[in-house]
Amino acid sequence: MEITTAYVGVGSNLGRSEDIVAHAISDLRAVPQITEVQSSAYYLTDPVGNVDQDRFINAVIKLKTTFSAEELLAVLHSLEKKYKRVRTIKWGPRTLDLDIELFGDHSLESEDLTIPHPEMFNRLFVLTPLLEVLDDDNVFKDEVIKAERSLAGSQYIKKLI
Ligand code: ADP
Ligand code: MG
Repeated sequence: MEITTAYVGVGSNLGRSEDIVAHAISDLRAVPQITEVQSSAYYLTDPVGNVDQDRFINAVIKLKTTFSAEELLAVLHSLEKKYKRVRTIKWGPRTLDLDIELFGDHSLESEDLTIPHPEMFNRLFVLTPLLEVLDDDNVFKDEVIKAERSLAGSQYIKKLI
């Protein structure tokens, strides 16, 4: 069975965000097809887009999985549902958002899945935590470092202790 290292972005700005993120990480650990779950620190970040809303808690999770990218996305969607995410305004507040940022060295684009995540290189709230857990030999590493440097200071992001 093929094992892939994937990086999942987590975000929440509704409800008890830190608890929701922590519970979602525990839930991922409990899935038999998912192993070696490792989280970055949590970050407090400004929302992107034009919707007036609270700051987010963001983190990036590294994991290994025997799932395909589509199967992993289905698990992430079921967790979003469990924490009662209601899909309302685009880029609006949410109890839990789980995105696949990277899936092995795959690049793919289908109707419901684009990898690498199409916005990840524009978002410090993904790039900064991602760099904490990203493997040194990851094929996207140089691109991630470059993007993080060019965005540094332009978006609010504060590591939580
Ligand atoms: P966003 O994360 O952009 O705020 P949503 O979480 O509502 O928006 O996602 C909308 C759709 O984006 C999902 O139903 C999913 O099919 C699609 N999608 C495309 N690529 C990805 C990806 N890499 N990770 C997660 N969702 C993705
Ligand atoms: Mg999403």
